[in-house]
Amino acid sequence: MTEQILLNNARIFDGKKMLDKNLSVLIENSEIKQVAGHAEFEGFTGSQYDLTGQTLMPGLVDCHVHLCYTASGDPRADGDKMGASQFTLTALKNAQETLHGGVTAVRDCGGRDYMEFGVRDAINRGEFDGPSIYASGKIICMTGGHGHIHGRVADGVEEVRKAVREQILQGCDLVKIMATGGVMTPGVNPEDAHYNAEEMASGVHEAHRFHKRTASHAQGTEGILNAVNAGIDSIEHGIFLTQQCIDLMLEAGTYIVPTFAALFNILDNADNSDGSKIPEFIIEKCIRIGETHKQSIKDFYTAGGKIAMGTDAGTPHNKHGKNADELRLMHANGISAIDCLRMSTFNGIDLMGLDKHGMIDKGYAADILVVQGDPSKDIEMVANTDNHVLVIKAGKIIKNKF
Ligand SMILES: [Zn+2]
Repeated sequence: MTEQILLNNARIFDGKKMLDKNLSVLIENSEIKQVAGHAEFEGFTGSQYDLTGQTLMPGLVDCHVHLCYTASGDPRADGDKMGASQFTLTALKNAQETLHGGVTAVRDCGGRDYMEFGVRDAINRGEFDGPSIYASGKIICMTGGHGHIHGRVADGVEEVRKAVREQILQGCDLVKIMATGGVMTPGVNPEDAHYNAEEMASGVHEAHRFHKRTASHAQGTEGILNAVNAGIDSIEHGIFLTQQCIDLMLEAGTYIVPTFAALFNILDNADNSDGSKIPEFIIEKCIRIGETHKQSIKDFYTAGGKIAMGTDAGTPHNKHGKNADELRLMHANGISAIDCLRMSTFNGIDLMGLDKHGMIDKGYAADILVVQGDPSKDIEMVANTDNHVLVIKAGKIIKNKF
């Protein structure tokens, strides 16, 4: 049976730009069937909504989440008490909350023993509501390196190659390799390079040989350079960028996924006033690197670098479903509202490599967010989920405030 929904008279952000006049969008089953003036649809008798005064745009894309993490003050401590069934249900619940928050596609950048893969597959097959999910499986890191507690520890060129092949065998969509230390692992420094240039090159090359995109947690300068020189597709966090990093990334077209929400939510809850204890070493490192991070992303943006929205949802107090908060943080850090919208729709899909998504156009997936007002003029219209009117995934209405 053919199911149609007509969304009338909307201001449209198509994934790249605001269209210059209001148009209507016809959804048929899971796809956008037609985008045209209202008069084209005269006599339409099916389900329809009048979006006058509202903006229709592609669903948001979050390029960095952890569906298996609980987003409490100490997600790792939670994880230590969870079994396989709890991880699976947590990942499913988190995916559904993410979709309700207006996010129709995510990259999971580090799971737990592939339990998120079952959730991904069930959602991507349409058995459960949820965003489109691409997942990396286990993060690949060095002995004692960032992520070693639950990642795939691999040292040396040969072993890194094997670790990549293991993720591919398990069914990963992308490969995540740790270039530097980070905040969430005790005893490592964000500033320090972890994998050396040869190990990094080995992992990235092997992933690309089998058509998998690559993402690298990369905070310190040397690690960022190792990852970029290896041909990495995205730098996650990107804290200590130098002019050399920026120049190389512009030349290679490397994306940055800033994840402002990760640092913001830790620092914003550092007093642990709600009783949920964020480990002290995490807070200490965020204080140390927070301002540098903001300046680096500002410099990268000003230079014209490619940015895709990502939150690191699941890390302390960084809640699944509140992903849109990231747009507020990006805007507060000097990114124009219209660029925030691009980075959170078309750019995210471009980085994921998800065909026929991330645009409002004929033949694209009907993954749609409708918000009050004009988010290109007021970022709160998209950043605050109270202003979301409709969330539609593959033609199915998920949230409806009409
Ligand atoms: Zn992460």
